[in-house]
Amino acid sequence: MRVFVTGGAGYVGSHCVRELCAQGHDVVVFDNLSEGHAQAVHPAARLIVGDLSDTGALERALSAEPFDAVMHFAASAYVGVSVDKPLEYYRNNVANTLNLLERMRARGIRRMVFSSTCATYGTPAEIPIRETTPQRPINPYGRTKVAVEWMLQDSAVAWGLGSIALRYFNACGAAADGSIGEDHDPETHLIPLVLQAATGRRPSVNVFGTDYDTPDGTCIRDYIHVEDLAAAHRLALEAVHPGQAEAFNVGTGRGHSVREVVETARAVTGRAIPAVESPRRPGDPPRLVAEASRIRERLGWVPEWTDLARIIESAWRWHLARPEGFADRPAGALK
Ligand code: UDP
Repeated sequence: MRVFVTGGAGYVGSHCVRELCAQGHDVVVFDNLSEGHAQAVHPAARLIVGDLSDTGALERALSAEPFDAVMHFAASAYVGVSVDKPLEYYRNNVANTLNLLERMRARGIRRMVFSSTCATYGTPAEIPIRETTPQRPINPYGRTKVAVEWMLQDSAVAWGLGSIALRYFNACGAAADGSIGEDHDPETHLIPLVLQAATGRRPSVNVFGTDYDTPDGTCIRDYIHVEDLAAAHRLALEAVHPGQAEAFNVGTGRGHSVREVVETARAVTGRAIPAVESPRRPGDPPRLVAEASRIRERLGWVPEWTDLARIIESAWRWHLARPEGFADRPAGALK
């Protein structure tokens, strides 16, 4: 298929682009590089640097080839920033998706795989979380993603768009061959922060909240490897039916506490990793674990990375190879 991938230079997007290229799909990446890295884009894919708010650039890019489908990753994804700058988030995540959907409708592109999130469930009423668990997001970021899911559902009815929204749990890890990995600025995610403390790039890692109602008092999350996410996207792409809007959770179904992550990282890296017990981070639900049987049954997706130590090992290889992320590439290799 010819696939147009927005945000394909970002963390999850770039791993999905690799998977699509490996499976022989023809990929064009559209990314403004505000968060992404040109070097993360697989060499077999074509990168167009552009912003979804620029309808002219978007129209030119979409009309250049007869695309069969769109994978839509481009979005702002910092929960804390979304609380301070909600309108920026609604503009970037909702208004820009509206631009994209309008252009897709005009060009007759009827397939989309959308990058959604477990943040759409807020503090869930049940664990594990099913797709039918009510979506009650507790921050603007989560609300923007629900708004897009609604746009996809309404577009299915009105103009026959087919879509699959993948609600990811905690994306983590790096490509098994160490070629690409996670590189955010600022970094806010637990596993990369723990590994930066292991390499000495940070003095320590904070453990946000030790008084939760969980076995060891710290928050529990479902850590899903980015290569498993990439496989889920590829399967979703092949399963999208025009006129149907579907949503699947993507997680392992296993939960790990913050302390477990820190301890496993100590074992994997053989480094001390100082951890500082700190107050709770506002807005963190105590437990987020997926019930992911729907995607197994419907798409035949099975996570391969179910062992936390192996997941952290893959991220560790990337951190050792590139302690400064993509900036570590020798000068001249950029773009
Ligand atoms: N966390 C932590 N210290 C950090 C960053 C995160 O204790 O420096 C905790 C956070 O409170 C949450 C878990 O680690 O319980 C995962 O957080 P992350 O930001 O990686 O993902 P989120 O669950 O917020 O999407």
